[in-house]
Amino acid sequence: MCFSSSGLPEKLVLNLESAGYVMPTPVQMQVIPASICNRSLLVSADTGSGKTASFLVPIIAHCSQLRSQKCTDKRGPLAIILAPTRELCLQVEEQAKVLGKGLPFKTALVVGGDPLAQQIYRIENGIELIVGTPGRLIDLLMKHNVDLSNVNVFVLDEVDCLLERGFRDQAMQIFQALSHPQVMMFSATVNSEVEKLSNSLAKNVIHISC
Ligand code: AMP
Repeated sequence: MCFSSSGLPEKLVLNLESAGYVMPTPVQMQVIPASICNRSLLVSADTGSGKTASFLVPIIAHCSQLRSQKCTDKRGPLAIILAPTRELCLQVEEQAKVLGKGLPFKTALVVGGDPLAQQIYRIENGIELIVGTPGRLIDLLMKHNVDLSNVNVFVLDEVDCLLERGFRDQAMQIFQALSHPQVMMFSATVNSEVEKLSNSLAKNVIHISC
């Protein structure tokens, strides 16, 4: 499979090619088709494997197809990516913007340290994806600044680090505000704590190891 013969939106394939992505990496080859089939996943993959694009590509395809076919007038966000650090969120959002350029796909970065008002303004203006750390997203949720009821896809990046940093309860609290999303979890190490969280978030999870 190469990206151009994968059935992805043409503009997304062009963006992938402009970024130098022609052939999917092994993790992308497994994750993208399973994600497009709406399966929940627990993926063991290191940084450097291309894991970020493996969850961004199906999210961008899903959101932009819904928006361009006007099958939903539902307010966003339609997808959430949680990551343990501000730096990782910045990198993920940056890649999302590059791959989603020119498509009906807008993002909001929701991390501590940045002004809350700016993040609220961006969300209120309509977005498809939130990339954030759990603490700041909980703040917005508690203050009713964000409606998560239309979220279809919930990604936890670097789950092992999220757990090490004590974000388990916050991740669960965010999950409980969603209604039966597809869940994609990525972790360098899959230990019993990661498995436990995975079992609490989704049933019939496909395990992928690259
Ligand atoms: P990641 O594992 O997501 O941190 O990605 C590692 C690096 O691989 C990043 O610099 C990406 O831009 C790059 N990358 C991801 N997917 C591909 C691909 N299919 N072809 C070429 N480079 C890629």
